[in-house]
Amino acid sequence: MIDVLEFAALAQLPEPLLTVYLNTNPGLQINCRAIPGYIAWLKTGARGLLAQFGETKSSLLYAQVLRAEKYLEEQRPAHAGVAIFASAEVWRVIPLEVEPANEIHWGKPQLWQLTAMVEQHRPACAVVLDLSGARFYARDFGGLRQFAKQEFDVDVSQWKPKERAHMAKQGTRMPHGAQRDLFEQRLEGEYAHLLQDVAKTLTAYCDAHAVERIYLLGADRLTKQVQRDLPARLREQAICISHVSADEPESKTRARVEAELKKSEVERKEHLVEELLDKTRGIATGVDQTLAQLQRGLLTTLVLSAGLNPSLRVCETCDLVTTSPMARCATCNEAQATTTLHEVLPTLLAKHACRLEVVDGRAAVRLQSVGGMGGVLRTLKHEPVPPPARHVQHYAHA
Ligand SMILES: [Zn+2]
Repeated sequence: MIDVLEFAALAQLPEPLLTVYLNTNPGLQINCRAIPGYIAWLKTGARGLLAQFGETKSSLLYAQVLRAEKYLEEQRPAHAGVAIFASAEVWRVIPLEVEPANEIHWGKPQLWQLTAMVEQHRPACAVVLDLSGARFYARDFGGLRQFAKQEFDVDVSQWKPKERAHMAKQGTRMPHGAQRDLFEQRLEGEYAHLLQDVAKTLTAYCDAHAVERIYLLGADRLTKQVQRDLPARLREQAICISHVSADEPESKTRARVEAELKKSEVERKEHLVEELLDKTRGIATGVDQTLAQLQRGLLTTLVLSAGLNPSLRVCETCDLVTTSPMARCATCNEAQATTTLHEVLPTLLAKHACRLEVVDGRAAVRLQSVGGMGGVLRTLKHEPVPPPARHVQHYAHA
């Protein structure tokens, strides 16, 4: 797995450097030809780049392109994609588990696609609860998979015969009247312990895998109890979803959980955008204001429309990034170079420990009214401040 430190190292790779993202999905027809589609694309892209930089065929750039081509021809990657970073001193290939858009650059390392992939595949956990047990799921790049199961074997052997008589089918058929009260008290006592164990398993997994989102699916009285048993840092992130766990095949439950997670994520992002649009304080809106607050270290979360990548200026002396069309920096009056949002944003986010939220669909349409970009200021205490670059963990197998 590639980790935070490695991501930071990528950002600091010496330039000039070749960055290539290729969709190498072997399931695509175009990639099954004698010359796979991604190799053909690389050849064409490289020709354009060589023409743009006016390099000769003996140049460092051409040498790196040939190196990448040779690697792809020999290895024929089996992953959905690859990111390649190459220079005379550097050779780094990162297999990707989601398909990237094909891209080729020469100069600074280009980390936008990696950053956006990580944002859109943050690790999450879901627990499906019913009276018979708990099923634990983890969502990462590979999709949703079950990582643990806990049966609720309520031990009734030591119960008084009168109570036990009502356990015809454990937890499903309830007795009546005073006996029912006794029964439920006893049962609730048993379940309290079991649900505490669920919270412990969940906490251990979340801590070990830097999981940021937790979904608890089931009847309220079960999910709310688990939520109460979680440590405060996780309790605040846990979302309870009413879910009837019917007697169904595992694959169907998994598909339903996956759908619930997607729906919940869309709702969360829509809510975040509505908050940005409603508030007059504690937020930044528009590309210029949001970038300014980010560079002052004041943003906890930056919200960006997918696909928005405006041209920007970066000061060659103080590194200030603005939308200003002026040739000289407004702060230090030195020369500015042209850049793009996607080129500078990964580094700025990591440097200022700011979380990224990429929105699309209805949320992106709403965000357009403020230029497609906004942010939440730290003083609003919208979310706990993440440690620098934590959001880039575990996005690909190295
Ligand atoms: Zn400057």
